[in-house]
Amino acid sequence: MTFSKCRTPIIDEALEVINNYSNMDSKKNKGIDRREFIELSTKGVAAVSLFSLPIISSCGNSETTKTVFGACYHDCPDRCSWKVKTIDNKVTDFQASQNPYTAGKLCDKMVNFPNDVTFHSDRILTPLKRTGEKGKGEFAKISWKQAINEVATKLKSIINEKGGEAILPYSFGGNQGKVQSKVPNRFFAHIGASQLERTICGSAAVAGVLATNGQTTGVLPEDIIHSKFIVLWGTNPVLSNQHLWPFIQKAKENGATIVVVDPFKSQTAEKADWHIQPYPGTDTALALGLMHVILNENLHDQDYIDQYTVGIDELAEHVQKYDPVSVSQITGLEKETIILLAKTYAQSSPSLIRVLIGMEHQVNGSSAFRAVAMLPALTGSWRHFGGGLMHMTYELFGASLNWESINIPKELASKETRSINMIELGKALTSKDLNPGVDALFVFNSNPAVTTPNQNLILKGLEREDLLTIVSEHFMTDTARYADYVFPATSVLENWDILDSWGSTYININEPAIEPLGESKPNSELFRLLAREMGFSESYLYESDIDIVKNTLQSDHEYLKGITFESLRKTGGQRLNLPDKWMPHAQGNFKTKTGKCHFYDEDIEPSLPTYIPREYNKTDREKYPLHLLTIKTPKYLLNSSHANIDHIQKKEGKPYLEVNPNDASTRNIADGDELKVYNQRGRVFITARISNKVQRGIVCMPQGFWPSLLKGGSSANALTDHLLTDLGRGGAIQEAKVEIIKV
Ligand code: SF4
Repeated sequence: MTFSKCRTPIIDEALEVINNYSNMDSKKNKGIDRREFIELSTKGVAAVSLFSLPIISSCGNSETTKTVFGACYHDCPDRCSWKVKTIDNKVTDFQASQNPYTAGKLCDKMVNFPNDVTFHSDRILTPLKRTGEKGKGEFAKISWKQAINEVATKLKSIINEKGGEAILPYSFGGNQGKVQSKVPNRFFAHIGASQLERTICGSAAVAGVLATNGQTTGVLPEDIIHSKFIVLWGTNPVLSNQHLWPFIQKAKENGATIVVVDPFKSQTAEKADWHIQPYPGTDTALALGLMHVILNENLHDQDYIDQYTVGIDELAEHVQKYDPVSVSQITGLEKETIILLAKTYAQSSPSLIRVLIGMEHQVNGSSAFRAVAMLPALTGSWRHFGGGLMHMTYELFGASLNWESINIPKELASKETRSINMIELGKALTSKDLNPGVDALFVFNSNPAVTTPNQNLILKGLEREDLLTIVSEHFMTDTARYADYVFPATSVLENWDILDSWGSTYININEPAIEPLGESKPNSELFRLLAREMGFSESYLYESDIDIVKNTLQSDHEYLKGITFESLRKTGGQRLNLPDKWMPHAQGNFKTKTGKCHFYDEDIEPSLPTYIPREYNKTDREKYPLHLLTIKTPKYLLNSSHANIDHIQKKEGKPYLEVNPNDASTRNIADGDELKVYNQRGRVFITARISNKVQRGIVCMPQGFWPSLLKGGSSANALTDHLLTDLGRGGAIQEAKVEIIKV
């Protein structure tokens, strides 16, 4: 960027600041930190505010300034919105917008997003074609024309020889914008590709809550301030639901007791009034034990049960075997703890249970949610404002947006093609039994070499010379290293989108702040180009991003009253128009087939939530005696995103394995020792941290680190298995057993 000599000094200074920021991707500027950036950009913005929109200087040069709203695309319940200012395609300011829920603050993962992703010097900005061995990350730049032509030709050849099902799309929450995550599905449905069961996260939890309540939308996030007894069950909002935490603190100021149920002493557990630490995977038994106490102590709400539930007799009989002594043996909790939790929960009003994802990743995961969701109906806590269950909010958007604009067209939805569960990717890529086998894998918004269980099996599949792997990405991820072709994806600052939320009540627009850098293109455009090259003419393959955004808002649903494309461009995000006092089940109104809360359902196997632990064979039990938890403890990574960014690596530090002092001493392990953690699927080298954050017999490893950046080339998912949960076909990744040894 060159500057005109006829600017005033203050404008020159400002633009120098802006220029520095825009070039922060260059090696020489890598040292700039967040504080320096804020100071610099404040100067810059102060000066920039002297002019607005295109400026014609006295020399006649023109510049374009722009301010737009966008929203965080990450798989996070908060869905922050932001305001971006630019001059001539350079970002000059990036701040949270004044969305009342996200309270003008982006989390540490995202505050430096333009520099960390959009302008990062490692970003992929041209199509790439593999030149070396798979996994070596050796590529040559090629033109879009060549890349589209070659990929289209290869896909057509696979379709002609084996049929569309030999092609497997693979995507998840790497970008939750509706356009950039959903539009590609039209292309895959059109070619008759295998369908991907996208169940790696949330699906077991949702299936469990739906079995009981018929919907997951219970208490809304802001209404937690009215609660007096809050149980955060398997969730760590201090880190992974950060904008809910101030509301929880407000409730505490109002007199609420905060309880955390978590086998790991998380950052939230450290701040809570009471931390209850059951063994991993025993939540179903604990919930049934609480119901045992509530019913036997006559602490239930008989009137609510009579009016709004079905199956109380079956439940009352069922929970008799979950007495406090038996549940104590299963969970490792004192029986007095179980009794006290049951009594204080049932006798507090309003009492609220907040669940999110944590306890779902076990073979018994869905049953746990199903059982926990029964507690508010048993105690009648739904009757009180701020009482009940808080889970997800996506159904509010499901009811109000125009989903015909987003989903695959009806004529394609009825096409029968096989489904492959994303958790079983390694199995699918290496199976000799699949017919047709997977000949092409098309990855976007995902990095399965890091995020999907059974990492070594996935890598073995990705090494297949006869597998065509195509990846749309920002960076050379551990998955992209195995690709035959890599397409440069736009970052969220460069494309249109619309973002609903699964954890808040705001709908957000994402307007591009800058033109796409280099040759990057949105996912949506990549699939339009492929469709054209493959000779398809159906109009649903060519709808523009902005039209999809506009059409998605074409709905006369009351929740969207006053929310339009134009209003969102002015505000960034707006809260849905929900009733003042949202109390969905104060008078029943469950969305089950009976309209009542289901304690018992003969159509589900088993008909009552039942604690059925995973069976390990004797040899495995003896060889791998420690239970491995792989959880979201990193502060700066979101799943696998940002793990490759230098300054984030420095701030995050290296990964540690939390080991209980008893397990460490029996293995002669000291704090800081280098360990090998291993089982039948793989091994990970990691440093020991001796702590009481985990109980004896349990070790805990963080998720998200890229294997290629760690010693030994493996990360947490090298140890996890591709087991499925009891309902919802989710991933039971917290069921791995390991042994550890000092190296
Ligand atoms: S990751 Fe979550 S908390 Fe952080 S900016 Fe995005 S939506 Fe907000």
